[in-house]
Amino acid sequence: MKTLKIAIQKSGRLNEKSVELLKNCGLSFENYKSSLISTVSNFPLEILFLRDDDIPEYVQDGIADIGLVGENVIAETGVDVAYLQRLGFGKCTLKIAVPNNNQYQNIADLSGKAIATSYPVILQKFLDKEKINADIKTISGSVEIAPGLGLADAIFDIVSTGGTLRSNGLKPFADVMSSEAILIGRKGIENEHLVLELLQRIQSVMRAKE
Ligand code: ATP
Ligand code: ZN
Repeated sequence: MKTLKIAIQKSGRLNEKSVELLKNCGLSFENYKSSLISTVSNFPLEILFLRDDDIPEYVQDGIADIGLVGENVIAETGVDVAYLQRLGFGKCTLKIAVPNNNQYQNIADLSGKAIATSYPVILQKFLDKEKINADIKTISGSVEIAPGLGLADAIFDIVSTGGTLRSNGLKPFADVMSSEAILIGRKGIENEHLVLELLQRIQSVMRAKE
């Protein structure tokens, strides 16, 4: 392999930390908001700036060799990739939440209810595991307003501080998955010389932070 390609988020919650991590690895590159590809001048690496949802597939299909994305996105897209390194940032929890005045006692009380989410795959797996039959309403954003609008009885979404839940009259009900940013690679790429070299640099940056 002559040049390694890494996919990172173009803008959003993981972008800044991803760029910072690569810079801390001693990589020198331009980081214009307008560009989709940046070439590293002192390491054979190209950086592709993408929407986070697209990163798992780009890596699985070999358009990028490696990628940096939240575990939740990998789980939702169901791709078959190699986990190379957990990165310790972008931490969050995916939770089921219900309206404050709600009397549900346990998970089984979700049976027959409608749950709104942008993460139907992860939610379905959880419901299957718990043997609960619920109606998943897939919506692409602003999930937390669904109960107030009468679209759903509960929601399943990423929660960090809980502020968004509170301001929409919701309370956490069940934790389903915790997630952090992770470096993934195409299956079989783990032993490539350039991947090992970059991984070593990432690990020493992480050790220095401990
Ligand atoms: P894109 O435009 O790339 O599709 P997005 O809006 O889907 O971005 P962001 O909100 O930037 O995604 O979140 C990216 C990732 O950051 C999430 O998938 C998750 O892994 C992580 N994350 C950490 N904390 C939070 C949080 N409080 N809310 C949402 N995502 C979080
Ligand atoms: Zn996204």
